[in-house]
Amino acid sequence: MASLSTQVLVIGGGATGLGIAWDAALRGLKVVLIEQFDLAQGTSGRYHGLLHSGGRYVVSDPQSALDCAHENQILRNIAPTTIENTGGLFIATPADPLDYSDRWHAACQKLGVPADELSLSSLNEREPLLNPRIARAFELQDAALDSFDLAHLLKDNIEAAGGQVLLRHRLDRLRREGERTTGAEISDLITGRRFNLDAEVVVNAAGPWAAGVARLARVDLPLSLGKGTMVAMATRIVDTVVNRLKPPSDGDIIVPVGTVCVLGTTDTPVESPDALEIQPWEIDLLIAEGDFMIPGLQSARALRAWAGIRPLYQPGPAQGETRSLPRAHALLDHKEADGVDGLVSIIGGKLTTFRLMAEETVDLICNKLEQEATCTTATTPLAPAASTTLFTLPERLERQSESVSRSDNDHLICECELVNQTQLERAILSDERPSLDDLRRDLRLGMGPCQGAFCAYRAAGIASRIKPSIVSVSFLESFLNERLKGLSPLAWDGGLRQIDFMRRIYLELLGDEHRTNLT
Ligand SMILES: Cc1cc2nc3c(=O)[nH]c(=O)nc-3n(C[C@H](O)[C@H](O)[C@H](O)COP(=O)(O)OP(=O)(O)OC[C@H]3O[C@@H](n4cnc5c(N)ncnc54)[C@H](O)[C@@H]3O)c2cc1C
Repeated sequence: MASLSTQVLVIGGGATGLGIAWDAALRGLKVVLIEQFDLAQGTSGRYHGLLHSGGRYVVSDPQSALDCAHENQILRNIAPTTIENTGGLFIATPADPLDYSDRWHAACQKLGVPADELSLSSLNEREPLLNPRIARAFELQDAALDSFDLAHLLKDNIEAAGGQVLLRHRLDRLRREGERTTGAEISDLITGRRFNLDAEVVVNAAGPWAAGVARLARVDLPLSLGKGTMVAMATRIVDTVVNRLKPPSDGDIIVPVGTVCVLGTTDTPVESPDALEIQPWEIDLLIAEGDFMIPGLQSARALRAWAGIRPLYQPGPAQGETRSLPRAHALLDHKEADGVDGLVSIIGGKLTTFRLMAEETVDLICNKLEQEATCTTATTPLAPAASTTLFTLPERLERQSESVSRSDNDHLICECELVNQTQLERAILSDERPSLDDLRRDLRLGMGPCQGAFCAYRAAGIASRIKPSIVSVSFLESFLNERLKGLSPLAWDGGLRQIDFMRRIYLELLGDEHRTNLT
């Protein structure tokens, strides 16, 4: 087996791991990050899309509220291209406890989280579909944050600062000599090649998989896992993030994201980081609770459902539910916690606070390596690399209109999300072996109302021309099955028609013998 070496090895290519690798590279440390799948394929790509203002936690978890409010401002400065400044509303619907709004507003004022009360007439003007019986409304600095764009930016900036990001590389074994970890055995999942990587510090940023990673070093990491389910509605029913004025609970938020808006979320304890199956009651509950905010929501078209897993560090006895556990992050030096040097774990927190979590982690690493280097991520803008295809929807629309007026019509491949041929070709070329699902995360291809019914076969056709070796029937089938998995919990009415329509297109295209493969 080949052997390589680094100072810092980061396990996990979600927002936390990428933030750590970026911070470490900027401080001049030699850093390698490995990710078993694609960028943000774990919880970071399965989240709600909210850049927190802090308002959700002012009563239940003031430290998290302060961290979110602080990081919200920093991210707006360093990663503006990933954020849509929707603003946020906190509303008291007839189903919410009215006395909570006073307590909540007092907590915002005490913590310095800006929250301005709105008149009900201006609320109605701003979001006409909201419940007309809302008693109070406040405006906060919530926004929508595209985690896929953020992950790409971080990767580009890690590499520009001299760090390495190895996608589709899995940690198989942590090497331990006596009471310290000294490196890892890693598999390249594309080539099958295995190699050793010596590392002075290994950072476990594996999200819900973190307990499994710690076990590889024979360290017990007590985690509680909570599954949250979300439902995307087929249109942007609101243009502002809407939260209910009640203690955080199931079904209390709607976030406009791209062309859709996302209802969230539930929180149920699960045993495994892969327990992503969605229960019918979760869908019913999210839609019923959403209806308190937007009357009539129950009859609007729901597009797809998905779930993400939240890991919470819980050293005490296991509790039955995860909603009430603090959402703040935990940073563990396993030398202090378990007598094993060279291993650090960073657990929990929020995507909004990934930079702060990274700063604290790299401070600890510098301390362990006895290196003095100051964190600069709060003031270093994440510059898009020339190859990065970051576009908000209005920018995509503008580019498309420009291309039509220049009459060099760059063909639209995905009409819902306005992905054109140039963007698609560039994304295919920039990855050694992309799947259609990777291209979806890169470009939002297939994420809109048709869910890939029209764009998946076009994208497969273009990929087969550029990289024939990566395209086979399963290239299409595995993408379609992933889409169908998210559509099937909503298989009634419009959703059912959508599934039937999509299956018919692809059975026509691939042949009836593929009927059983399209599950
Ligand atoms: C339902 C839900 C909704 C949420 N909504 C919001 C929100 O709106 N706003 C917000 O700020 N936060 C939100 N959060 C929290 C936020 O999503 C997480 O804090 C954040 O995404 C965690 O990122 P991470 O990098 O720590 O973990 P992950 O994104 O899960 O990354 C861990 C990575 O480690 C990799 N990995 C694991 N094992 C190995 C191995 N052996 N080898 C190589 N790689 C490995 C995985 O493949 C994975 O990609 C939400 C969380 C949930 C569950």
